[in-house]
Amino acid sequence: APATGPVGTLLTERPPVAATSGPMIAIDGVSKWYGDFQVLTNCTTSVTKGEVVVVCGPSGSGKSTLIKCVNALEPFQKGQITVDGTQIANKKTNLPKLRSRVGMVFQHFELFPHLSITDNLSLAQRKVLGRSKDEAQAKGLALLERVGLKAHAHKFPGQLSGGQQQRVAIARALAMNPIVMLFDEPTSALDPEMVGEVLDVMVELAREGMTMMVVTHEMGFARKVANRVIFMDKGEIVEDAQKEEFFGSPRSERAQTFLSRIL
Ligand code: ADP
Ligand code: MG
Repeated sequence: APATGPVGTLLTERPPVAATSGPMIAIDGVSKWYGDFQVLTNCTTSVTKGEVVVVCGPSGSGKSTLIKCVNALEPFQKGQITVDGTQIANKKTNLPKLRSRVGMVFQHFELFPHLSITDNLSLAQRKVLGRSKDEAQAKGLALLERVGLKAHAHKFPGQLSGGQQQRVAIARALAMNPIVMLFDEPTSALDPEMVGEVLDVMVELAREGMTMMVVTHEMGFARKVANRVIFMDKGEIVEDAQKEEFFGSPRSERAQTFLSRIL
């Protein structure tokens, strides 16, 4: 879907890192070990521009590790990952630059507790993108408004609820004009009554055409906006299917068992 809403408009301001017609994220035969323990085994998948891919699977199956590899927060020993055509394991790749284009939202919001919401939103824009204070603040405020938190700009993270903090974390990631957004269980640390307000922001982003890779067990979200669902178990991608196919008739027994427990 083309970017239409105000967030979408903001997102398309910067030109892509490398203009390619290939997938936005390509994960090709990735294996990773922690010492002797193999955490990822020959993982291969891709995310096309504008696609929303949900990653699910039991705890310890390697979902967080895989998503961290995409953002080069974790090294891997075999295979290749490219983001918008740029190989992340290539020594010549400017990782800080690449990372600045890949928005990441974690389970724990990881806002800077000693900085106001405004400053949380401005810091990386100024340090990494070199935006002026005024420009960064204006951009931050516009995004805060989009996530319904403009009135809280002057506050500190500790004065906001978990759901509000997570919406600030999403706004902070969007302020960098990412070409792709990665989410790692963004709602699993929230009180149940706050899950909806965070998912709403994510649904809106998806509708505006953002490319997203989302680790979540919120199957309602997956049913609503995912294009594809990836199911992982013991470090392997066991299932990688269109949403309808995944929910309708998962091929593997492991995915069937997982779905029957969670739905
Ligand atoms: P998930 O996100 O699906 O719960 P993770 O990617 O966090 O899974 O972890 C996958 C496996 O790797 C787990 O068995 C976990 O204990 C192990 N693991 C994760 N991080 C490390 C680490 N830094 N060192 C060693 N083992 C790790
Ligand atoms: Mg995890």
